Order: sequence, then C-alpha cells, then structure tokens
Amino acid sequence: MITVTTLSALSALASPSPALLIALTVAGWVTGVIFVAACIGLWVMSCRAYPYTACPKCDALGRVKHPSGKYWRPCPHCGGEGQRLRPGARLFGTGHNGGKGKGRNR
Ligand SMILES: [Zn+2]
Repeated sequence: MITVTTLSALSALASPSPALLIALTVAGWVTGVIFVAACIGLWVMSCRAYPYTACPKCDALGRVKHPSGKYWRPCPHCGGEGQRLRPGARLFGTGHNGGKGKGRNR
C-alpha cells in the first residue's frame, strides 16, 4: 500500500501534471500568505503589549542637546517624552497615554 502510493507520488513528481503544478503553486501561495499573516499578527500583538519605542531623534532622552553639552531643550519630535507610539499601536488608539492628561497638540 505504502509502496504503491510512494510510487505514484514519485511518478507524479517525475512527470508533473499541470493540475499538480497548480496545486503546488496554490499551496505555496497559501503557505506564504499564512506565514506573512502570522508575522503581522505577532507584530501587532507585540505592538499592543509594548506600544512605545524610543524616539529616534533624541534616542529616548527626551531632550536635544546643544553641541556644547551644557544646554538642552525638550525634543520637539517626541515632546520631551523620549518615546514614540509604534505604528502598530495606533491601531488600538493611544490607550496607555490616556491618564497622563498631557495630550498631543499638533
Ligand atoms: Zn525625542
């Protein structure tokens, strides 16, 4: 039984029919789509669990330093908070920032 199915599978691989090729192509596509969807899902979940990332302009310091190093001002990019909401976290709204009352004035 097993040898018969193996042989038929081998012969199918040796001379692939168009239907088999299409089936394999579709299976590859479905696998790829599922893989990409799983990656996006994991990323979105990670964005929900950890919605903030370090501000790229001030490196999470929240301030921009004068070249002398003595003076600084609040980073205009992140409003002095040193953190940025990740793009995926915007799907869930500003959630964690609600209680702060600082708000974003754009
Ligand atoms: Zn910043």
